[in-house]
Amino acid sequence: MANLVADVAETAADRPDATAIGFRGRTWSYAEFWSETGRLAQALADRGVGADDRVALYLPNLPQYVTGFHATLRAGGVVVPMNPQYKTREIGHLLDDSGATVVLTLADLAPMVTEVEAETDVEHVVAVGGDDADLPEGATSYREFLASADDELDVVDRADDDVACQPYTSGTTGQPKGVMLTHRNLASNARSTGSLMPGGFDPDDKMLGVLPLFHIYGMTVTMLGTLFNGAAYYPMSEWDAQEAVDLIESEDITIVHGVPAMYNDLVNQPNAEEFDLSSVRFANSGGSSLPIEVMRRFEDLYDVDLFEGYGLTETSPVTHANRPDERRAGSIGRAIPGVESMVVNDEFEELPPVERGPVEEGTDLDAVTGELVVAGPNVMRGYYGLPEANEEAFTERDGTRWFHTGDIAYRDEDGYYFVVDREKHMINTAGYNVYPREVEELLFEHDDVADAAVVGIPDERRGETVKAFVVPAPDADVTPDEIREYCLERLAEYKHPREVEFVDVLPRTTTGKVQKFELRGSNE
Ligand code: AMP
Repeated sequence: MANLVADVAETAADRPDATAIGFRGRTWSYAEFWSETGRLAQALADRGVGADDRVALYLPNLPQYVTGFHATLRAGGVVVPMNPQYKTREIGHLLDDSGATVVLTLADLAPMVTEVEAETDVEHVVAVGGDDADLPEGATSYREFLASADDELDVVDRADDDVACQPYTSGTTGQPKGVMLTHRNLASNARSTGSLMPGGFDPDDKMLGVLPLFHIYGMTVTMLGTLFNGAAYYPMSEWDAQEAVDLIESEDITIVHGVPAMYNDLVNQPNAEEFDLSSVRFANSGGSSLPIEVMRRFEDLYDVDLFEGYGLTETSPVTHANRPDERRAGSIGRAIPGVESMVVNDEFEELPPVERGPVEEGTDLDAVTGELVVAGPNVMRGYYGLPEANEEAFTERDGTRWFHTGDIAYRDEDGYYFVVDREKHMINTAGYNVYPREVEELLFEHDDVADAAVVGIPDERRGETVKAFVVPAPDADVTPDEIREYCLERLAEYKHPREVEFVDVLPRTTTGKVQKFELRGSNE
């Protein structure tokens, strides 16, 4: 059977009492989880959800998100994840574009959905939590919805290339685009998560579920990967360093996945030295580049190796990872099994590798870097209803369909890849290219810097000039000018930030990416 969720049925049959989900002291066994999934799938099918029908999940990380995800796929439908921080305007666009007919949401968020319902194909709004009496007209409570099913639906068979999930990503520009990920795409990636950990997945593993489920990293690597492999998933609704540590300590969590901003926040807590992460056997970072300094501090404090991987929504997501056997600081690792990758120039010619990465400070990066392109079973079918965007995203060569990542990278002879930056983040100052990441790495090395981001801002003489936004450490005794001098002493003159601004916090997406357009805008 090609349906991606069918594997869970096996665990439910073989180890019915094993924990599938743990949340706020309650656990769901595989038997319970699979049975609830079956009833929810039946309730969806009773409302007409079948092959290819879209069901939107507009929820934070909760057990019901996981059930909703599996139930939709079990009924043959397609999940449309929506960020619970989105407001009416944003969800209106996603619902309209995807054609979702059912929305599973939170009681508090339900009014936002009913407000836009009339302009979309939405027919059923199902709300988790809250009192039935408080729900807006037309919304049904999750409990009632589930109770309406009198049976557990069998898994609806799907073909490998049928779409399973349609997350939205802004990519490099413009409106969010629907990314069609198939059963094959997600299964190949969820399966490979185990092979990237020492000894693979263990049924007794416990996964910290703090990465948002609407985002591909949380969805595939933490949630699907865990349930695929019969381990236990512990969702957390939002990031809070202390709460995450409390959960790790109380439940003896064994696997942690996070974005660099989470690891940075963790090591910057005033009581960071008191945290006990001894139950953790594998920690991984992805979603944006992990500053080497953050990795070192984490490893020094907790004696847990911190691995780095790389991927995109369009690739389900993982394409590269450092493996248990060998890893390189600052590298996204090697292509994972089954995935091909190369670095190409504007003419789509493959660039030669450097000897051994990372390249030495001061190497002319322009000569060795190009765009990272990838191919493999995890690469999306395409953007939904956007032929032009698909045209731009792919290049066919000798029967291989290469996907353009939009990231600038180089490769070394051993197959390790180093992402220099996103193409659109590169700064051109008086004809010189500056990759913000290089300057950011240096800033993180400064003891008085807690967080930092570098952007290009308009400059009459140079076209663009380098500006650093810095969050000073709590007891920092430093001025912006001293930070500027510090960079100037260590970098080529054209790379150093001519402007340094101290801020309390950097604008970040829920998945930890710095919103650089906002930083650029703040100077206009
Ligand atoms: P998303 O589609 O939201 O998952 O974003 C994908 C983008 O995140 C990639 O194109 C990269 O720019 C960035 N990214 C993910 N992982 C890494 C990493 N380890 N190092 C640098 N950039 C990364």
